[in-house]
Amino acid sequence: TAIVQLVDVGKAYGNVDALRGVDLTVRPGEVTCVLGDNGAGKSTLIKIMSGLHDYTSGEMVVDGEVRHFSSPRQSLSSGIATVYQDLALAPLQSVWRNFFLGNELTKGPFGALDIKRMKAVCDEELTKMGIAVPDLDRPVGGLSGGQKQCLAIARAIYFGAKVIILDEPTAALGVKQSGVVLKYIMAARDAGLGVVLITHNPHHAYLVGDHFVVLKLGRVTLDASKREIGLDE
Ligand code: ADP
Ligand code: ADP
Repeated sequence: TAIVQLVDVGKAYGNVDALRGVDLTVRPGEVTCVLGDNGAGKSTLIKIMSGLHDYTSGEMVVDGEVRHFSSPRQSLSSGIATVYQDLALAPLQSVWRNFFLGNELTKGPFGALDIKRMKAVCDEELTKMGIAVPDLDRPVGGLSGGQKQCLAIARAIYFGAKVIILDEPTAALGVKQSGVVLKYIMAARDAGLGVVLITHNPHHAYLVGDHFVVLKLGRVTLDASKREIGLDE
């Protein structure tokens, strides 16, 4: 039931082996946490799945086909959405415009909607996920860090992502905001999405992770489910 599967994947930057023999499976309805120190290869892993870098050995299988993405557009149109720490939101644009931003990369219904309808869709989607924003016309830069993360995730879900890759979504957030984002990640998971969560925070990994992959110097040193680790009571 894998949506994305990396099999024995390697990535070399010149003579630096950033990833070696990495296996990773992204399954629907599961949060896979990727943990590891700086330099372990986490960013490289994300970049391969999101179309910023190609891998140099092994295979990446997406929906049953071996793929080499050569652009973020290809990754996105295969249903893989990546939310980077900088979120790719335009801070001076309104909340609702940001919700539809970047959607020209997808098969979304943007072209067919007028402004009124777009605002209604945005309101509906944010409300559904419990993060209603009182004024959708205000610049997105005025939202809290947690709200911005949720907006970026909601946008990916609305435009049909099957996999969401989250790069340290709680790194810049306080306890309360982190809680909101973690809840939201669980809601996405429960809606059937495959979530890849890159985090430095073991507590956050413990709270939402179904599966854990630890990278060390480009190699997977642990690949285990919550049950296998004995955390599922
Ligand atoms: P992490 O995200 O876990 O900190 P990275 O994927 O950024 O790890 O880095 C993995 C290894 O690859 C490190 O040794 C890093 O120095 C190296 N690396 C990352 N990007 C490049 C690059 N563009 N060119 C050369 N080496 C790189
Ligand atoms: P691109 O291929 O899009 O130019 P790079 O992988 O070269 O992207 O650089 C993207 C990120 O990788 C940057 O954040 C950069 O700091 C980091 N990076 C680049 N070279 C290295 C390196 N030799 N070691 C560690 N990180 C690197």
